[in-house]
Amino acid sequence: MKKRYLLSPGPTPVPEEVLLEMAKPIMHHRTPQFSAIFSECYKGLQKLFKTGQPVLTLAASGTGAMEAAVVNLFNAGDTVLVVNGGKFGERWGKISQAYGLKVEWLNVEWGQAVAVDAVAAALKNNPSIAAVLTQGSETSTTVAHPIRELAQLTKGTDTLLVVDGITAVGVVDMPMDEWGIDVMVTGSQKALMLPPGLAFIALSERAWKRNAAAKLPRYYFDLKRERDNQAKDTTAYTPAVSLMIGLRKVFELMFAEGLDNVYKRHDTLARACRAGVAALGLKPLAPLSPANSATGFFTPDGIDGGKLEKGLRDNYGVTFAGGQDHLKGKIIRVAHLGYFDTFDMIVALGAIEMSLAKAGHNAPLGAGVAAAQKILNERY
Ligand SMILES: *Cc1c(COP(=O)(O)O)cnc(C)c1O
Repeated sequence: MKKRYLLSPGPTPVPEEVLLEMAKPIMHHRTPQFSAIFSECYKGLQKLFKTGQPVLTLAASGTGAMEAAVVNLFNAGDTVLVVNGGKFGERWGKISQAYGLKVEWLNVEWGQAVAVDAVAAALKNNPSIAAVLTQGSETSTTVAHPIRELAQLTKGTDTLLVVDGITAVGVVDMPMDEWGIDVMVTGSQKALMLPPGLAFIALSERAWKRNAAAKLPRYYFDLKRERDNQAKDTTAYTPAVSLMIGLRKVFELMFAEGLDNVYKRHDTLARACRAGVAALGLKPLAPLSPANSATGFFTPDGIDGGKLEKGLRDNYGVTFAGGQDHLKGKIIRVAHLGYFDTFDMIVALGAIEMSLAKAGHNAPLGAGVAAAQKILNERY
């Protein structure tokens, strides 16, 4: 017997209450019963995004909402500024290129946040940039980008700010309306404690205006059509019924905890994880602007990160994420978003210490756990 722990930044664990809710018999989606559930989810999403605009639900993984953002806002030949500091930043650019947009890449060293000045300079240099596309949290490098400051740059200009908040929404407070974020996207399988399969997107008033003039081809991801349907508590096409039933339960749990407490919990777990990693003498991947969604660290010299990750999964039963592209085999990423609590961090750090000790790393067993415990005890 091996007990398994899922500590990767997506998909993330799903609470039992939510799993049981989703095991209920399928109901038909064109019924008052389903519309009542949809309506609760719709209001919950607005509360989570902190927006008065509709937050639309799509049956897709998170990337579906990213593609929806691109095809609903732009015309072929438009120029977009893409913050490219990791795999997901790169994805914004690739989607844009697939639809014939001109991409101005703002390359950021992996592990760093984008410099606000660099965005300001790019916008000044080319005022015709239609939008800045970025991540709230760049999961591949465990970096948080300065969304609030970026929104201050784009507010009152003709440039939209489009934020992939897939590992930021529900982790940190990102009040869409107050900050002036034009498009915010998230997905079900990260901080929302659900299986993969739902994507969410909201547009500001000026983004909706842009939508009216945007001519890129679209059919399934036609947000105007979804907005008209979802205002009536239904969807244009068959919704992912069970996931929506699960989402209603997720909101019940989240709002019972209180959003501020949700953010605080993420912050405490993230600080504890970082302290644990530091106490083990491991080099952090994002030293200056770490995200509260996940913590990345370089594996020590001479220890192969790919083998460490595989051993942690297959021998110890603990699944983390490794690195991609030039970070493949070099890093481990520990998640702390969604259904995560104190003792998930103890499991994470304990397993890392034990497997590093086996691999010959000379940090004393318990050092990382002890450093984390001091911070985690703030919760009690
Ligand atoms: C997971 C993730 C995505 C991609 O979502 P999929 O659900 O795999 O399509 C996009 N952006 C970020 C920041 C993510 O963490």
